[in-house]
Amino acid sequence: MRILVQKFGGTSVATPERRAQVASKVSEAVHSGYSPVVVVSAIGRSGDPYATDTFLNLAKGIYSDLPKRELDLLMSCGEVISGTVLVSTLNSIGFEAVLFTGAHAGIITNDDFGDARIVRVEPGAILEQLEKGKVVVVTGFQGITEDGQITTLGRGGSDTTASALGVALEAETIDIYTDVDGIMTADPRIVEDARIIDTVTYNEICQLAYQGAKVIHPRAVEIAMQRNIPLRIKSTFSDAPGTLVTNMLPDRGIGTDITNDRIITGIAHTPNVTQLKVLTENTPDLHLTDKRIFKALALADISVDFISVQTEAVEFTVSDEVASKAIKILQNMGFEPGVIPSCAKVSIVGAGIAGVPGVMADMVEALSDAGVTILQSADSHTTIWVLVHKEDMATAVQALHQKFRLGVC
Ligand code: ADP
Ligand code: MG
Repeated sequence: MRILVQKFGGTSVATPERRAQVASKVSEAVHSGYSPVVVVSAIGRSGDPYATDTFLNLAKGIYSDLPKRELDLLMSCGEVISGTVLVSTLNSIGFEAVLFTGAHAGIITNDDFGDARIVRVEPGAILEQLEKGKVVVVTGFQGITEDGQITTLGRGGSDTTASALGVALEAETIDIYTDVDGIMTADPRIVEDARIIDTVTYNEICQLAYQGAKVIHPRAVEIAMQRNIPLRIKSTFSDAPGTLVTNMLPDRGIGTDITNDRIITGIAHTPNVTQLKVLTENTPDLHLTDKRIFKALALADISVDFISVQTEAVEFTVSDEVASKAIKILQNMGFEPGVIPSCAKVSIVGAGIAGVPGVMADMVEALSDAGVTILQSADSHTTIWVLVHKEDMATAVQALHQKFRLGVC
């Protein structure tokens, strides 16, 4: 049996016309000899009647502290609705389709409600249906704990479902269908001449995804990478070949001169972060102070990013949502942090960065020419990050895209 996982995002199932296009992708797979497992997200995005955010707002509008277990039960409904609708669509054109929830599909998670991790997949029940020639539609974004509680997997969780199933079923490929023709050099909503990336390594795309390229969830990339299952990001609405994510690029084997290769693969952005700066110079033991600060924030479940520790200060970012909570914690510890709200993190990602001098200098030049102030910066061998004011975010992404000539083939 040649198994293909096909995942369709929320916009792909939003209207009857779009669902017909989904059905034709499934049909193509069957006619090419595949046994498809179709993973589906909830219909539409925030504001649409059956979108996950709509359910969430409904409950929160009544009582904001609904227990996480109940919240997960509610949040899992969106995929059940879209899955049912898709099974109807497929059945109406002659396929025998069957709907599986995360629980039916054997997706076992831990009990971290709202952001559960998949610990194991038991694919037996899906395989049984595939053997009978059925098309199995699986609700994305959800699983079940060992003791039978329904969980959800967090934002982008349907991508994770698709990858986990791809690995468990030893699929030939995992196809992630969305509303763009593939992974692009930057978010096409910001950069008009963003270009589709034909092939990219798991590592690079993971970096881009972690830095905010919403097109695929980084956890999904990591899972596919473990078993080397190729991922393709494609459009539901076109026949474009999309982006292939694999281990090794065909033109980047060992011994390839990377200076001839692309240096920057893409640019990602994450808006809505707050920079906090704590002066630590007058505290007796600097390291202990830094440790205390991060421990207190971690205890309050606040994730910090972009940490830069200097001798006299420590700087880091938190999401705007939790900024006031973080500030209060720091004040209770006796600090008066410097606060810059509404910032954005802009990242350039590329496996070639490490081997090429002057990338950071080019980045600084491009941003200063565009009038963008850099509030903070950091680098690793595949990524350079800068923090800018949110109103400069689009300008920064556009300026960097142009500087590194990502729009030019
Ligand atoms: P889906 O509902 O199919 O999961 P998402 O909204 O999660 O769709 O992801 C697709 C969107 O990701 C695109 O519409 C695009 O605006 C955005 N996006 C952000 N960065 C990129 C990028 N580098 N390449 C392609 N799309 C991107
Ligand atoms: Mg998505």
